[in-house]
Amino acid sequence: MKIIDILEINRGGAKILVEDSSALFHPSGGGQPGDTGTIQGVESSNFRAGVLDTLKNKELGDSNTFILDIAIKSGQPEKGMELTAQVDAARNRVLSRMHTAQHIFSRIQEAGSDKASQTPQTTKVNLGTEESSISIRYDGNLTWESLFAAEEKTNEIIADHRKITSSVMSREEAEKLPGLDAKWDRIKDESVTVVSIEGIDTMACAGTHVSDSGDIESFLVTGFNGSAPDWEVRFTVHASRLTEYGRRMRELLREVGCRPDQIRDVFLRQRTENDALRTALDKARAFISIPWEERKIGATKLTLYIAMIPGMSKDLMTTPAKSCVAEHPDSLCLVLLPENDIASPFPFLLLRGAELNVDLSGFIKKRPEIEARGGGKPDWQNGVTTQRSLSVWLTAIESFLSLS
Ligand SMILES: [Zn+2]
Repeated sequence: MKIIDILEINRGGAKILVEDSSALFHPSGGGQPGDTGTIQGVESSNFRAGVLDTLKNKELGDSNTFILDIAIKSGQPEKGMELTAQVDAARNRVLSRMHTAQHIFSRIQEAGSDKASQTPQTTKVNLGTEESSISIRYDGNLTWESLFAAEEKTNEIIADHRKITSSVMSREEAEKLPGLDAKWDRIKDESVTVVSIEGIDTMACAGTHVSDSGDIESFLVTGFNGSAPDWEVRFTVHASRLTEYGRRMRELLREVGCRPDQIRDVFLRQRTENDALRTALDKARAFISIPWEERKIGATKLTLYIAMIPGMSKDLMTTPAKSCVAEHPDSLCLVLLPENDIASPFPFLLLRGAELNVDLSGFIKKRPEIEARGGGKPDWQNGVTTQRSLSVWLTAIESFLSLS
């Protein structure tokens, strides 16, 4: 490998144009990230660098020259320098497994109808070493049922050890191939790599693939989101992820105390109950009457309305606290909601009325004796505290007001 040109160089990093006749580093494209690895200058050079990414050399269009994005470890790259290189083969292998799995899965999803709009169509691919994702265009409703079915078929193809071959041919030749799946408007090169998966598909694709579908090992859809017609499906080829999902699921089942086939219904029922409770609480909120305790804040002559209600939810106290300062715009309002456990932090609220010209913003930071974490706005502070002593709070508020 040889450096043809230094395209960009700065402290610690560079983009270099290299001639790589053995095409050791595979460039990014079609959703597959470029290869990574290391390079060194040969003989007397002390140049060493990590390769972060490999890119196609679009301008020259020469298949043997690539752009390497590098992090320099020692020395400097120089024009004409001969290099030795090591590609991160393990990473490329995982990406090849991901890529091949994606082809099979996408094809299985697209099968079933001649009309493209009637089946999920892969529009974009984003391959990663841990998890990959596919953007899908589909007017229908993508469901777990359909994804499970496509996942199962993909795993059958994997178990079936289908042969995968690729050959480079001229664009002219490739265009004549019957049934070739290619996005010609996106292919700029004169030569095209045609990939065939036995019994599945033949397509133009410049990525890297495994040569036997069994090398993918396993395929698992890890999740999906979106809504018609734009969906995203995530997947992995790491069987360990299935184990992980199974373990977490069993933990959850023990916690909930039900069978796997019941968990979804249990959750949906809980969610419905939760929504109903929330609605009921929203209605009840307006009728909550708080036994405010009135205190004068030392020399300031201001009134502080205090409510200390053990175990009360902060969510239920915000409306009454706001009403309190709305009714008494020249006052402050302090809500402390201590837990039974002395050591655990509990929620607090501190509000001021609209007529008070005080910025509460710095209160938590400037008064460490209130032992609080949190924040808010000039008229509104909230968070958690471990300070249960009302007199400490009163003195802290008094000191803060007299200093501001
Ligand atoms: Zn491919």
